[in-house]
Amino acid sequence: MSAAPSLANLPVTALKGVGDSFAQTLAKLNLFTVQDVLFHLPLRYLDRTTVVPIGDLAPNTSVVLEGTVVRCDVVMGRRRSLVVTLRDETGQVNLRFYHFTGAQKAQFAVGAEVRCFGDPRLGASGIELYHPEYELIQPGAAYKPVDQSLTPVYPTTEGLSQARLRKLTSQAVALMRTSPPAELLPAEINRRFGVETLAHALAYVHFPPKEAPIPALVAGTHPCQQRLAFEEMLAHHLALQESREQARQETAPRLPVDSKLLQDFYDSLPFSPTNAQQRVIRDIHADLSQPQPMLRLVQGDVGSGKTLVAAAAALAAVGNGWQVALAAPTEILAEQHKRNFERWLAPLGFQVAWLVGKLTAKQKEKTLEQIAHGEAHLVVGTHALFQEQVRFAKLGLVIIDEQHRFGVHQRLSLRDKNAASGAAPIFPHQLVMTATPIPRTLAMTAYADLDLSVIDELPPGRTPVNTVLISQQRRADVIERVRDACLAGRQVYWVCTLVEDSETLAAAAAEEMASRLRQSLPELQIGLIHGRLNSRDKEQTMAQFKDGHIQLLVATTVIEVGVDVPNASLMIIENPERLGLAQLHQLRGRVGRGNIESHCVLLYGHPLSKVAKERLQVMRRTHDGFVIAEEDLRIRGPGELLGTRQTGALQFRLADLERDAHMIPLVHETAELLHTYNQALIRPLIQRWFAHQQHYVKG
Ligand code: ADP
Ligand code: MG
Repeated sequence: MSAAPSLANLPVTALKGVGDSFAQTLAKLNLFTVQDVLFHLPLRYLDRTTVVPIGDLAPNTSVVLEGTVVRCDVVMGRRRSLVVTLRDETGQVNLRFYHFTGAQKAQFAVGAEVRCFGDPRLGASGIELYHPEYELIQPGAAYKPVDQSLTPVYPTTEGLSQARLRKLTSQAVALMRTSPPAELLPAEINRRFGVETLAHALAYVHFPPKEAPIPALVAGTHPCQQRLAFEEMLAHHLALQESREQARQETAPRLPVDSKLLQDFYDSLPFSPTNAQQRVIRDIHADLSQPQPMLRLVQGDVGSGKTLVAAAAALAAVGNGWQVALAAPTEILAEQHKRNFERWLAPLGFQVAWLVGKLTAKQKEKTLEQIAHGEAHLVVGTHALFQEQVRFAKLGLVIIDEQHRFGVHQRLSLRDKNAASGAAPIFPHQLVMTATPIPRTLAMTAYADLDLSVIDELPPGRTPVNTVLISQQRRADVIERVRDACLAGRQVYWVCTLVEDSETLAAAAAEEMASRLRQSLPELQIGLIHGRLNSRDKEQTMAQFKDGHIQLLVATTVIEVGVDVPNASLMIIENPERLGLAQLHQLRGRVGRGNIESHCVLLYGHPLSKVAKERLQVMRRTHDGFVIAEEDLRIRGPGELLGTRQTGALQFRLADLERDAHMIPLVHETAELLHTYNQALIRPLIQRWFAHQQHYVKG
């Protein structure tokens, strides 16, 4: 350690311009010390260093472009929008604004010069920029020079501008010159990444010099970023190991399963568990009979029957007089679980309650009471379960379904909801379920605190879903096919997708599709479900579909996770090329659940690029979630395998478990080294990356 004062102990108020009230704003970002500011790394960069000729625009990379307004119109359509056409010597492009003022419209007079910055996308009129940032150039004035280096963009909070954050980081970087942060990794690591010091890497990443290689920085593959990402992954790994070690020291209730009860449950089912289900259930029951908390991840492809495994686990708890909390990511799924568990557990004498956002205040109060008094044996819920007021009398087991939709913190917060703690606290066992196929090494790092069981077999009698690619030009044929299927007593999903990730637009598209289909298929009962409906309507529609009153269900991708209607045997997916393969796989998993032959029609838009076609072909060839995930990775590049970054489940600043997967072996190796030779460095390492993330690090 150096003799200079450590920035880890220097409060943010030591920085110029930071008073007490500003410090409070910074606290919202968990920035308390100057070291915290140093480790507050850019999320991404804006490249405003070159002006791209309009003729060279390609979708999905941010650009600066300049041009003259040649047209400006308000266009009616599904939504009213202002469309501004810009031209330079190489071509023309449309800017589209859904929200705009009269003044804005007036600004874009024909002949005006505009510089704008945004993400080109494939839109209605070819390449378009939606809501770009823009700047009008005064007549006769020259364009200002473009930026000389990349602009960092930091995670921020309300009332804190990027400019102000940049001022702070630049002060912190300057201070670091005299008090560099401690090098906590073996010296070998800097050499491996070709980086002189940690301080150098930090400074570079905050303020990339002019000559920095832009594509590498934008992709996050620059050696300085990789050096930091490595340390972050290592710290994460060590933190999870530590939390696992701590959990092993804790006390959990012993919950040996009552074999008579289990047998009664199996006897009530119309089928018997697969070998894979039985094996995983045995793993779980073995864990549950121990006085330390179980921490187990069950991975099983869509349709492999994870719900049954969860039920068998729950039986061990309720059979011993302990409660179970089951968290599901959506209300639709929570509702479905409630029905299943009621059907399974009520005959055995157990009471199932549910807790979701839409309950009335009165219902909620009653449910909370039942939970607190232990009258509810199993509680199914959405995120509402994590709320502060929820207290269990004797919580013995926590089950999280579709883990990737939740954060590590949410899972861990349920641990502390147990009132049944006298002198010595008692912690619940934890069971986490996911359909996301994660390669084993990745899983070892992403979920280093969990043991892993895999359900590697589907229930018998499933015929693989026959998947076909059909162009939208043949829509009429597909509609006929839907009619035939419904008249033959089958049920059908019609799924609408959208380019933009907006549930509002998706809902509008689904509504439009439903009314078109009602016109073409007047003899069918057609339902509609999307994220914009209130939960009562959603629930009612799902129930009617389950009961067979609705034959054709038009939906957005809200039905993606978990929904189970075995009689549904045909799924039409509009514009499947807009979705990732993993998501298509999840969607397709909604059919092929009964023993009728099922079909999935990928109704693609015209024309389809070669790459897009190649991707969709993968769906025809295979049903194996692992193969699909790997193909997705190969064709699209890293992106959405874990599905966690968007929801922030892993909360990395810089690391990307997919992009940086190649470093995982080195992470494991270095962790071992530290455990063997340098245990004293482990705490400070975790501290500087995760100090303020409560549940990662205790004590
Ligand atoms: P997922 O793993 O995707 O959550 P589910 O638990 O929803 O799968 O189960 C999918 C369907 O398979 C359900 O209809 C369920 O009743 C059925 N199922 C589960 N286990 C078996 C089994 N061993 N034999 C036959 N059908 C089963
Ligand atoms: Mg499920």
